[in-house]
Order: sequence, then structure tokens, then C-alpha cells
Amino acid sequence: MPLEFTHESLGQRVLFGSGHAAENLAQEIHRIGGSKVMVIAAEFEQPLAEMLTVGLDIALNYSDVVAHVPLEKADKARQEAREYGIDLIVSIGGGSTTGLAKAIALTARIPIIAIPTTYAGSEATNVWGLTEAARKTTGVDNAVLPRTIIYDAALTASLPVELSIASGLNGMAHCIDSMWAPRTDPINQALAAEGIRALAAGLPAIKANPDNLEGREQALYGAYLAAVAFASAGSGLHHKICHVLGGTYNLPHAQTHAVILPRVLALNAPSAPKAMQRIGQALGSMDPIGALNSLYEQLDAPRALKDFGYAEKSIEESIELILPFVPASNPRQITADLMRELLESAWSGKSTAESYPSSR
Ligand code: NAD
Repeated sequence: MPLEFTHESLGQRVLFGSGHAAENLAQEIHRIGGSKVMVIAAEFEQPLAEMLTVGLDIALNYSDVVAHVPLEKADKARQEAREYGIDLIVSIGGGSTTGLAKAIALTARIPIIAIPTTYAGSEATNVWGLTEAARKTTGVDNAVLPRTIIYDAALTASLPVELSIASGLNGMAHCIDSMWAPRTDPINQALAAEGIRALAAGLPAIKANPDNLEGREQALYGAYLAAVAFASAGSGLHHKICHVLGGTYNLPHAQTHAVILPRVLALNAPSAPKAMQRIGQALGSMDPIGALNSLYEQLDAPRALKDFGYAEKSIEESIELILPFVPASNPRQITADLMRELLESAWSGKSTAESYPSSR
């Protein structure tokens, strides 16, 4: 078969180095030339923000960060940014903090320097999200793509092990879903495969020792690759399911992704032999489903949506909400029965080794 594809790479500067975030931030603010800098960091991230911005001229410190970026919170932050004449945003925190920075950039068209403290990966995508009346809207706009990312694994050391693992598996989901997402191509697949390898190496090291900086570096590197692959390949079946469940039932983002991932892998497996081979190679196994299950066991990863507030009685409604969003590119045709099987096993937490969605 001839090799033929269209691939678009997003332009970003990435500064990666443990213990170097403060000096890299000073250098980038100078390079980009911001004169009125707004620093966004959630309340608990304030000490970290203070540490990273010592000696810098900051016009506005902003801490009103709420998960999933409610529209009224975005509007309030936008108004403050306008009042202060902000021309550069620095976001320090997880995906919720980056999300608020993106909401401002979407309307104000000003650059962002992102300093992530989780493995969610929002900093490497041009996707924004806003929540209004319990419905999350997302969109794509290059104005929200942070101009620079500053990665410092030492900043993720405070992320509790459970959350590190769920967040890292959210990254793993970006990689695996990229293998069959609507714009999948050999470049984003190569990034995704390396992301799977790095996350599968980093997360067990964090589990064994949360202070292991090398493990955290691998996880952060993997999370970046995962997000670049996802931004390029687009949302596949996994992300569509999680988007509907998270938005409709207010489930925690990273844990929902972690629970759903092995089930989507098992569901698509019979119809995606090449993707399975690639994922298996990245996990160092001929059996990617078994390898992912072993990794989950080793990590004691989240397994059941019932542990995170999802009710069994919501399954039928969820099927109706999810089916219209199943991407046409998905390798397997998804029926209501298959989706029910997937959601039932996700709700109860059965391992995919026990409840492999059937291949009918
Ligand atoms: P989050 O930012 O809400 O953080 C999760 C929790 O971890 C919070 O309680 C936070 O206070 C805490 N936390 C963050 N960093 C910490 C640290 N270093 N130490 C201790 N605690 C820390 O969640 P998240 O999983 O990072 O991001 C999820 C959000 O990001 C969702 O809204 C999701 O939709 C969005 N997201 C967007 C994209 C995109 O491309 N636009 C990609 C991934 C995620």
C-alpha cells in the first residue's frame, strides 16, 4: 500500500528540565516580551506560583480556578484580564488551570506560558473547553495553544500517587485512542507509541516510589507526547465516551479515562489488528490487553465508575447520549449492545480479562 497522509504539526516551544521551571519562566517571559503578566494558579498552587515567580514583575495573581471551566468563571477571569491590560498569561497547575488560561486566550488572543503539574496534557493541545448549564462545550482554536510549555517533573512530585496514576492513564488513553482517531496518521501514531512506552515505564516507578524523579520525568514526557498525538489525531471512541460521561454525570476527569481505557481497547481489539500490534510493541508484549491489565494491577489503577459517582441506572441514558458521537473512523461498528456491555463492565469494575466485550 502506498504511504500517503496529511499531517499538521502545531508550533510550540517546549522547555523540559527538572528544577529549572523558575529560570525557564523568567527567560520565556523576557523572550515573548510580556509587560503585563497574569499568573493563574489554583488556591493550593499559590505557594508554588510564588516560588516560581519570585523577582518577576507580575501584574495580576489569579486563583479562582474551578474544574471544567464554568462559563461564569471564565467571564470573570476575562474581565479581570481586560481591566489589568494583561498581555501574557502564565498558567501553573493541572488541566483545570490551563483550561482557564485557554478560556481567556480564546477571546483576548494573548499568549500563554503553561507550567503543568499533572499529566493531563492540555498544555500541548489547541482544544478549549467551557461548561455551561452542566454541558461541556469544546472547540479548537490555535489561539489557545500555549506559546511555550515549561515542564519540570519536580513540580509533579506533590501530586498524590493515586492521582498521578489516574492522570498518567489519562495520558495513556490519549495515546491509545490516537491509534484509531479520525485523523490518525503515521506521525501521530509514532508519537503515541513512544508516549505509551514512556508512561508504561514512568507510572510503575512513581507507584514504587512517589519521589522518583526519573519516573516522573518519564510520565511527564509521555504525557506531552500523548497530548501532541491526541491534538493531531483528534478524539476517538474513548474520548467521546469519557466526554459524555464526565460532562453529563460530573465524574472526575482522569479517573473516568483510566476506567474506560482498557474497555475501549478490548472493544476495538478484534477490528484493529495493526493498532493492537503497535500498542503491544509499545507495551513490550504480544498481548496488549493482557499487558494493560497487568499494568493496571501493578498500579492498583481505578477500575470501577461506581466508585466515582456513576449510577448503574444511568447506563441506558448514557448509551443514547454516546452513540451519536461514535466517530465514523472507529475500526469497529458500535451497537447499543456493545456499548451496554462496555458501560456495565466499567460501572462494576470487572477486569477486561473477565468481561471482554464480545466480538459479535
Ligand atoms: P485538575 O487540574 O482539576 O487537577 C486535579 C486535582 O489535582 C485538583 O484537585 C488539583 O488541585 C490537584 N493537583 C494538580 N496538580 C497538583 C500537584 N502538583 N500536587 C498536588 N495536587 C495537584 O485535573 P487534570 O486531570 O489535570 O485536568 C482535567 C481537566 O483538564 C478537565 O477539565 C479536562 O477536560 C481538561 N483537559 C483538557 C485537555 C485539552 O486538550 N483541552 C486535555 C486534557 C485535559
